[in-house]
Amino acid sequence: MKDELIEVRKRLLSAKSLTVLSGAGISAESGIPTFRGKEGLWNKHRAEDLATPEAFQRDPKLVWAWYQWRRVLIATKNPNAAHEALVTLETKAASFSLITQNVDGLHTKAGSRLVIELHGNIWKMCCTACGRKTENHAASLSPLPCCETCQGLLRPDIVWFGEDLDPDNLNRSLDACRNADVMLIIGTSGVVQPAASFASIAKEAGAFVVEINPQPVLSYLADLVFSEKAAVLLPQVIA
Ligand code: NAD
Repeated sequence: MKDELIEVRKRLLSAKSLTVLSGAGISAESGIPTFRGKEGLWNKHRAEDLATPEAFQRDPKLVWAWYQWRRVLIATKNPNAAHEALVTLETKAASFSLITQNVDGLHTKAGSRLVIELHGNIWKMCCTACGRKTENHAASLSPLPCCETCQGLLRPDIVWFGEDLDPDNLNRSLDACRNADVMLIIGTSGVVQPAASFASIAKEAGAFVVEINPQPVLSYLADLVFSEKAAVLLPQVIA
């Protein structure tokens, strides 16, 4: 067995507090495109046209059409071996936090319970008029879905570019990074703040940082780097 694999297993076994940050890469092998990279969603669509409050104000139909396309795509996808391995890790660690930048809901679908969905969830919506939040798993909605209570326009309950994160989610995430003695960073390009800073926050607080990404971005900081696909590596970590 590779020394690195032995090391990460040892660290996980002795960890009192394990924190995981996942990004789009963990869902790549479920068939959900990442944002950046060759097959990235943003190669076909400009983020600033679709995932900003200004874009929604300008053309809510276009934004909803894109989200509905993504809902239809995600509805047919299932968690992969990497999501499943994290469910196992959650049951083993004394203290565990899973922070995800993904909006696909696959961690919860896999069975993870302690998930902080930092950027929201594609199955949730909120009313632009009264703020009421709803959850709706129908893959396809009417072109401009409306609030049942006040008939206001609904929007995806997703944190768009230029918007603030939910402060409770952010504070819980920061606490989890500062308290971690092991932190796994899985499948994120590390360009979206503040999640991009979580690895260095954990590292400064003394965590052992492990990156899993076929194209790593944290080699300058991580204690261990696995240049592998999450669904290949994580099952070996928990075996
Ligand atoms: P990103 O697209 O910027 O980066 C994806 C990273 O995953 C890259 O570094 C890539 O090398 C890596 N990767 C690709 N295949 C992998 C694999 N099999 N195993 C491990 N790593 C792999 O994604 P990001 O950093 O999460 O960007 C953040 C934004 O993207 C967030 O706002 C998030 O909401 C959004 N996003 C979410 C989804 C989703 O919910 N599934 C999909 C696309 C984008």
